[in-house]
Amino acid sequence: MQPVADAARRGCAAGSPDGWRNGQFDVVRQLMALHGELAPPRQRRDYARIASRSVGVEPDVYCWQPAAWPPFLEHYAIVRGGEQTSLKSVLDRGASRIDLDPAMCAALGRYLQRIKPSEVTYQNFELAESLIVLTHEAEHLKAPSASEAAVECYALQHVRPLVREAGWGDAFANEIALLAWEIYYPRVPPPFRTGECRDGGPLDRSPGSNAWP
Ligand SMILES: [Zn+2]
Repeated sequence: MQPVADAARRGCAAGSPDGWRNGQFDVVRQLMALHGELAPPRQRRDYARIASRSVGVEPDVYCWQPAAWPPFLEHYAIVRGGEQTSLKSVLDRGASRIDLDPAMCAALGRYLQRIKPSEVTYQNFELAESLIVLTHEAEHLKAPSASEAAVECYALQHVRPLVREAGWGDAFANEIALLAWEIYYPRVPPPFRTGECRDGGPLDRSPGSNAWP
């Protein structure tokens, strides 16, 4: 834990809010290095291509292994003051790097292998969630000053076209997009949600169309 402690001390010694924020991310970076050492995250260029096709950025995407992510999250929650209990991804803006929860990686893997979620499982939800999580972080890289709520709203709107690309038909793409809107979005914490995210609203990227999201 020594590198983590050193990073925390450096961060606390910084003289400005920006310095403290950078210091906080340095602590996260050191925690990731610590927890990733035993079960190293694997780089996934195929998942990165989902982000480049849909959002137009070129991140490095890493998948965490099931043994390493939960212990990392426990430490991460302490750093974040307990606010992040269901974190699915971490973005390192400086390195254009996205680290993903193992369950999100599994869902993206099924998506790329065109394994259609079956009706009676949680996989429909995870398909929507994993596409939102990945494109959310990618949208941050594309628009660094956009708010969490704006970025989340843009991510929501990637679900339909990405599911359509899988070739499972428009009805299924519509079903997953609606699942994202009706089940996923209402559960998102308040800073990630806004009334501006609606059909025809300021964050609607296809204002001329009434397909939503
Ligand atoms: Zn975000």
